[in-house]
Amino acid sequence: MRLLVAEDERSLCSAIAEDLRLCGYAVDTCADGDTALELCLAETYDLIILDLGLPGRDGMEVLRALRAENTETRVLILSARSQIDDKVDGLDAGANDYLTKPFHFQELEARVRSLTRRKFVQEDVLLCCGRLSFDTRKRSAFADGRPLSLTRKETAVLEYLLLHQDRTVSQEEMMEHLWDGSVNSFSNSIRVHISSLRKKLRAALGFDPIENKVGQGYFIREGGL
Ligand code: CA
Repeated sequence: MRLLVAEDERSLCSAIAEDLRLCGYAVDTCADGDTALELCLAETYDLIILDLGLPGRDGMEVLRALRAENTETRVLILSARSQIDDKVDGLDAGANDYLTKPFHFQELEARVRSLTRRKFVQEDVLLCCGRLSFDTRKRSAFADGRPLSLTRKETAVLEYLLLHQDRTVSQEEMMEHLWDGSVNSFSNSIRVHISSLRKKLRAALGFDPIENKVGQGYFIREGGL
């Protein structure tokens, strides 16, 4: 899952980004409305956390301009203003949710989880594929009910494959959704994470459930071939 945080209070912005990275999301940040709009039109985000009071274009202008181009990407508005009018305007302009500052990070995490999950699988908290399961709330994976010890990137790759287990996922698509812009996303690096994930899955299950379709991408299946 790849997120953008547009917030001009630097310390808050980096605290949000750090918190969400610890939760396993790939997070880009920016501090003004023009950059926010540029980024969200150029990149593929699963969710944008958008402060309303931004320098340059304010959050509402960014949201309106984004919605004119793209109605899919989830937007969670942040605002210091607690007036009901802002909330209604934001939701009318196409925001998916609204959080008033100050907020608890736990509440932000819960909203983010709910918004990123809803896009793909409604309210399912547990993703299952054969003997594998994945708890999207705790962000932990299990084989035969036993917890797997995965790195953050391996966890993100596995979650993404499980969310899209009905189809083949290209390496490009995974890079767009799981790697943030701050990292040098050479395709080698994703291969390394996938290969270590496959080793761990093979050790836990006795087979490797991830199939690499040459030239197409990766596919996760329930049983061995
Ligand atoms: Ca602000």
